[in-house]
Amino acid sequence: MNLFDLKGKAALVTGGNGGIGLGMAEGLARAGAKVAIAGRDAGKNSAAAKRLGEGAIALAADVTDERACRAMVDEAASRLGRLDILVNNAGINIRKRPEEYSLDEWRRVLEANLTSAFVASQAAYPHLQRDKGGAKGGKIVNIGSMMSLFGAAFVAPYGASKGGIVQLTRALACAWAKDNIQVNAVLPGWIDTALTRRARQEVEGLHDRVLARTPAGRWGAPEDLAGIAVFLCSSSSDFVTGTAIPVDGGYAAQG
Ligand code: NDP
Repeated sequence: MNLFDLKGKAALVTGGNGGIGLGMAEGLARAGAKVAIAGRDAGKNSAAAKRLGEGAIALAADVTDERACRAMVDEAASRLGRLDILVNNAGINIRKRPEEYSLDEWRRVLEANLTSAFVASQAAYPHLQRDKGGAKGGKIVNIGSMMSLFGAAFVAPYGASKGGIVQLTRALACAWAKDNIQVNAVLPGWIDTALTRRARQEVEGLHDRVLARTPAGRWGAPEDLAGIAVFLCSSSSDFVTGTAIPVDGGYAAQG
């Protein structure tokens, strides 16, 4: 038995049309899963589905819209024929000093990064429980951040959302263990994506500070997240739940 085999499994990756989400979706597809990716940008959606290959589907959805988020999960399950895996990866950041945020900006970040993960998980729960083959179970992977662990001056809502993701992960893991659903968080270090390209423009010196602090001596690439996705979504992690695993080139270990 191949512990990492995902043949016959179906996965939905929110924000899977680029960056870390696409890196994880590619890992899942290579391990044999049928994959649906979801995002707002139709052009990015179809390019990503093409890159994932035959059988991959793209869903246009804004995860901050509750109805659209629930409909996205149901549509993924119906078009893929089942749903075994949900990766809550969609996220945004707005960088400012805490005293400068409007309440609307605070809410936008919390809704995109944290509330959407709760809503999508709640919508996925009945699908994950139901397996026509008889076996019950499923996998949820939530994407946190180094800001789940550390503070920084420009991340008040982002850090709150990513800290919240770890606690949401633990709560769901405890509640749904009886259903054989494992829920874990991945805490990426600094990964080269559209999100962090903008951060490097906005925060002077960030690029070099990350290099200096990361023991691996490099920024991560989206492909660096493929392996952890396969591990946490396959039977190799059936006794792993409620964890928050850094994938960071040693960033969090550095004193
Ligand atoms: P990207 O900006 O490259 O990707 C973000 C993804 O989220 C896109 O696919 C985007 O698609 C989607 N998205 C954003 N808002 C929504 C929304 N309202 N509804 C649906 N989809 C949405 O960033 P990353 O790949 O870097 O980030 C992915 C996740 O990883 C985020 O949760 C981020 O916080 C986290 N992370 C990233 C780190 C890094 O170093 N890059 C480090 C730690 C965590 P679209 O625009 O089409 O909607």
